[in-house]
Amino acid sequence: MKVVVVGGGIIGLAHAYQAAKAGHEVTLLERDSKAEGASVRNFGMVWPIGQPLGERRALALRSRDLWIQIAQELEIPFRQCGSYHLAHHPSELQALEQFCALAGPEVAEIHGPEEVFRQSPDLRPEGLLGAMWSPHELSVDPRITCAMYAKGLQAKLGVQIRFNTTAHEITENRVVHRHGVEEADHVFVCSGHVLHHLFSDLLTEKGIRLCKLEMLRARWNAPVPQPGPHLCAGLTLLHYESFAPLPALPAVRDRWQETAPDALEAGVHILVAQHPDGTLTIGDSHEYGTSFDITSNQRVQAVIERELDRFLPADRWSVFERWTGQYAKCASEPYVVIPLTPSTTLVNGVGGHGMTISQALAEQVVKQRLPQSTAV
Ligand SMILES: Cc1cc2nc3c(=O)[nH]c(=O)nc-3n(C[C@H](O)[C@H](O)[C@H](O)COP(=O)(O)OP(=O)(O)OC[C@H]3O[C@@H](n4cnc5c(N)ncnc54)[C@H](O)[C@@H]3O)c2cc1C
Repeated sequence: MKVVVVGGGIIGLAHAYQAAKAGHEVTLLERDSKAEGASVRNFGMVWPIGQPLGERRALALRSRDLWIQIAQELEIPFRQCGSYHLAHHPSELQALEQFCALAGPEVAEIHGPEEVFRQSPDLRPEGLLGAMWSPHELSVDPRITCAMYAKGLQAKLGVQIRFNTTAHEITENRVVHRHGVEEADHVFVCSGHVLHHLFSDLLTEKGIRLCKLEMLRARWNAPVPQPGPHLCAGLTLLHYESFAPLPALPAVRDRWQETAPDALEAGVHILVAQHPDGTLTIGDSHEYGTSFDITSNQRVQAVIERELDRFLPADRWSVFERWTGQYAKCASEPYVVIPLTPSTTLVNGVGGHGMTISQALAEQVVKQRLPQSTAV
């Protein structure tokens, strides 16, 4: 079968991989000269710990396993780094303990400050009560991963990738683009946050909205440590659905409301990804809407730096880049898969966990929507 994928972000790339592996002839169209959307602006965190326990965690873990396999096959660098949720207040430690009790030891466990400092010696020692350790998180460098994924698809699986090729119109078995027409037996439309031209009414009807995030990249000031686990702290407990049912959560929220109302208002929680080149990706904030200021919000960036300094002292890092990213998020579902016709499938709305679930989501969608032929 001839398969066309529209969109060269991580969701499109993962669909191209799965379709090629299932023995189909795949062409991917990307409107820009390289992917420039959410998939290159993120932390590069594969983050199963942020998914609610049950089916969604299982999807994230399957995706993680596929990431390891695909990264090895396509020669994309990655680290199995795990993650720490740091606790600086008894209510936060209690919430993390409650989560561990609910989830079980195969998901996460509590480490005392000594063990936490062994793995992350640069953390601020004052006030650290302990942390929740999860071993399952992965780290890829978002700046290079999509480009290397695309290169690997071309070189190892024979996928044709056409950059600078915007799909203008998709009708049954035909994709019209600026260089001509692509005939296809199946089309996957994975156009991310670019909601305004392809099937925009449908996406709006499905409750998909945009979110703008503030991000920073910093360097370690000397001495540069070995890259450690992903780091986050108390504000993150308020962000992920997986922590929502914990009895200690209202106390955590009340304390942050008193201590840092501006952080809650801007949807700030602090995540830190450490890269082997001695840099750190730091964020983020959440502003929802349909369009945004083109500039970065200096006030929110300052809140992010202030909150990071609470657990990673500001004299240990220097910011050298700032940017914003946007993702498309479905308000009611973790993602949307819309079978538009028997031969056209729209995959969108993955929100803030697209890197995490992309590989397993694509595996499921391709299995459901395409006949499986000879494996490559
Ligand atoms: C700042 C930030 C941090 C994040 N951190 C993480 C994280 O650490 N872990 C995690 O799991 N998730 C994270 N996310 C979410 C994750 O990055 C997204 O869910 C994911 O990248 C979405 O992938 P996508 O392929 O749908 O979209 P995109 O990456 O936006 O890709 C869509 C592509 O389609 C192309 N396109 C659009 N229209 C057309 C057309 N008509 N023709 C051809 N091409 C077209 C675009 O140019 C674009 O390259 C983060 C998101 C942001 C913004």
